[in-house]
Amino acid sequence: MGASQTNWSFTRPERLPLPQPFEEALPFWESLKRNELRVQKCQECAELSHPPKAMCASCHSFKMGWELMSGRGTVFSYIVTRQPIHPALVSHTPFATVQVQLEEGPIVVSNVLDVAPDEIRIGLSVRATFEPANDDVTLLYFVRA
Ligand SMILES: [Zn+2]
Repeated sequence: MGASQTNWSFTRPERLPLPQPFEEALPFWESLKRNELRVQKCQECAELSHPPKAMCASCHSFKMGWELMSGRGTVFSYIVTRQPIHPALVSHTPFATVQVQLEEGPIVVSNVLDVAPDEIRIGLSVRATFEPANDDVTLLYFVRA
């Protein structure tokens, strides 16, 4: 950060396969298309959780709703990939995959668009941003807050 900031920006390789949402996760993906970040909230015990699942891990209820998040969070952990793990990534390494802990508690996996892989730090403040990949899929990313 500070003087070491660069104009680096993450770009998603066009040929990289898109997520294939499963049934319980469809509301999450639909919310991203509206530029909203929602995670599941158990209607019995109020536990927030991500990724989506059919049953609450805390109380085993199947009554799962969806709660709007602020989009603000901090980098909880990250890993920098230096070897292309898919042919589409050959000219896209290194890149950082981050776990962002939302201020409401849940952790989501994403990328930070405007921070170079070697400048990502645990605790970095970030906010959600939404990037349509096509008409059906919008992807969740983060930028420096
Ligand atoms: Zn519960």
